[in-house]
Amino acid sequence: MSKDSPFLTAAPVLVPMPAERAYTYAVPQGMCVAPGSVVRVPLGPRLVAGIVWDGEAGSVDARKLRPIEQVFDCPPINHDMRRFIDWVSQYTLSPPGMVARMVLRAPEAFDPEPWTPGLRLSGGQPDRMTGARERVLAIAAGGLSWTRSGLAHAAGVSSSVIDGLKAQGVFETVMMPPLPVVAAPDTTYAVAELTPDQRLAADELCACVRAGGFKVSLLDGVTGSGKTEVYFEAVAAALEQGRQVLILLPEIALTHAFLERFQNRFGVKPAEWHSDLPPRMRERVWRQVAQGTLKVVAGARSALFLPFDNLGLIVVDEEHDPAYKQEDRVFYNARDMAVVRAHIGGFPVVLASATPSVESQVNAQQGRYGRVVLSARFADAALPNLRTIDMRRAPPAKGSFLSPLLLQEMGRVLERGEQSLLFLNRRGYAPLTLCRSCGHRFGCPVCSSWLVEHRFRGQLVCHHCGHTEKKPEACPDCGTLDHLVACGPGVERIAEDVKEHFPDARTIVLSSDIAGGVRRLRLELEAIAKGDADIVIGTQLVAKGHNFPNMTLVGVVDADLGLANGDPRAAERTFQLLSQVTGRAGRTGKKSLGLLQTYQPEHPVMQAIISGDSELFYAREIAERERTGLPPFGRLAGIIVSAPMRAEAQGHARALRLNAPEASDIFVLGPAEAPLSLLNGRHRFRLLVHGERRSDLQGFIKAMLAAGPKVRGQIRVQVDIDPQSF
Ligand code: ADP
Ligand code: ZN
Repeated sequence: MSKDSPFLTAAPVLVPMPAERAYTYAVPQGMCVAPGSVVRVPLGPRLVAGIVWDGEAGSVDARKLRPIEQVFDCPPINHDMRRFIDWVSQYTLSPPGMVARMVLRAPEAFDPEPWTPGLRLSGGQPDRMTGARERVLAIAAGGLSWTRSGLAHAAGVSSSVIDGLKAQGVFETVMMPPLPVVAAPDTTYAVAELTPDQRLAADELCACVRAGGFKVSLLDGVTGSGKTEVYFEAVAAALEQGRQVLILLPEIALTHAFLERFQNRFGVKPAEWHSDLPPRMRERVWRQVAQGTLKVVAGARSALFLPFDNLGLIVVDEEHDPAYKQEDRVFYNARDMAVVRAHIGGFPVVLASATPSVESQVNAQQGRYGRVVLSARFADAALPNLRTIDMRRAPPAKGSFLSPLLLQEMGRVLERGEQSLLFLNRRGYAPLTLCRSCGHRFGCPVCSSWLVEHRFRGQLVCHHCGHTEKKPEACPDCGTLDHLVACGPGVERIAEDVKEHFPDARTIVLSSDIAGGVRRLRLELEAIAKGDADIVIGTQLVAKGHNFPNMTLVGVVDADLGLANGDPRAAERTFQLLSQVTGRAGRTGKKSLGLLQTYQPEHPVMQAIISGDSELFYAREIAERERTGLPPFGRLAGIIVSAPMRAEAQGHARALRLNAPEASDIFVLGPAEAPLSLLNGRHRFRLLVHGERRSDLQGFIKAMLAAGPKVRGQIRVQVDIDPQSF
């Protein structure tokens, strides 16, 4: 390299795109970069943010490279986080750049937060004193600088009072450094008085935190046993050691009540992280997490990819929840990746659930995870009395979906001024619409699924791709007018059913379709908790985590719903969901009841729910998985091949299978049509790769993809390690 070259060296930079490795860029003279630096680099015609990666750039002529444009003035992505990116990339078989992309999800955060103008007393006096002015001056006398609205709020006056004082020179303007997103939590703010059982559990978790080092604890406690109170003690212990804490929660709608509980314990709310966060807030949270100034984040699965400076504990609440699985671009399970993150960082992780996943149960049984158990509900809250309603013996009246037994109990609850919840995990009015004259069924034009009627909106909607059409008056096939019938119920139809029977009851329908989005949902949940509804009809959104003190009856409209598909995980999922739903009842001292409408009351899931014997249920599930070599006793991966043309997708999948390497411990099944064989205009075929517990599934799949035909044109191949359904 010639002496006068402005570029002295080269550096590898990982850019946020599907690149298999870091690209090499020149480092201009005088620029200082190290592994982890966040930099701006040219990529094709664009400028993107990337991470300076580890390793040598290789022997290249730096003069031929494009230079790094800028080093952002933000904390570097630390060593642990870079190892985490590598690990997730290798495990999920996603390009490392796509994992880095999940870390760099707050583009403006890389520039320093601007300072903002504030006010400070100048020493001048106002022309005359009023009560309002006195209050302002008393508060500002502390010598701190204030924002205009912050000062007005603290003094309880309107901003115009502040403006008046400023006009008279009582205040001077100063620039203030950025404020923290939230103040530091106070671990001694309101220490909970734990029951002896809870104390034992909390002590065990706190001991792990204080000892430091990697350790997974499964916090296994029935709904309402106080798991949150218990893991808050572990959070406090980590904070006292000066470490940062991440709490993962499965649903955003849930977080609001959670934030308040956190505030009751620690005096401030934790920072939130999820896709509904306004961009400005995202940037501030990202930056302050990286700086280490923000101590606690409560977030959705994507929070796992925040670049914590000094993370010392992760809690995964409702660890069994399917919402932790991302099935888009990078396919990962946040629960499992949280364990990996903790392993890399050398700190403990707590997995909390009333109905742990079979995987975590087995890990605890085999001693890889510690198990901390809470066996009783807190205080006088008793678990609801649970019964099945055999729908063959007590069928609903014609046109209704509610058994007379359920209606009778609802009537009693209504008379007592208490609340009922009817649970049906199906959005909309009816899952199928057909023509009574010709039998035409309304299907999605681009998916292999029926359109769901949403009567409130007058539309037919595909729940997979979002395709929407107006519900016609006449059948599009035979033209007959007014012969379209709705088949089966969704929550909207159950609401109609309820209105028929209890016209004066106050009802609320809750599903993700609710107009007004998350904000409105939060308001409705608060309204229910306050008692502003008599009967709530909801999907799984209401099943999770909420505390409704006056709810004494939970009716499951179709307890068999989740069991119908042939998925080996169906029983586990149904058990978890039904346990959670029925757990909404009886959270205070009142007597409560859970009723499950079913056509198969003898099914092991129903038996486990009503007997409360989850141990027997898990023992059977685990034995079955062991017998069939399914996870966690064996390993599974799905490979989905999709294309607009059916033959193209199928042909590619077949060719992949033919090119699978020889292995005695790994089998390839398929290709078969994927569970949703047409999605968004793409035909989908699936190969299932089934290995033993210690098989190198990733190595096998990599070899198979490398040996198979090139992915061209419109074909897409997605690898899903540890698929949700199998
Ligand atoms: P879980 O997460 O196991 O379902 P929670 O932590 O939500 O249970 O506790 C259920 C209810 O009992 C909550 O309202 C909680 O505030 C209350 N609770 C639990 N333990 C205590 C305690 N030690 N002191 C006061 N309230 C408690
Ligand atoms: Zn569709």
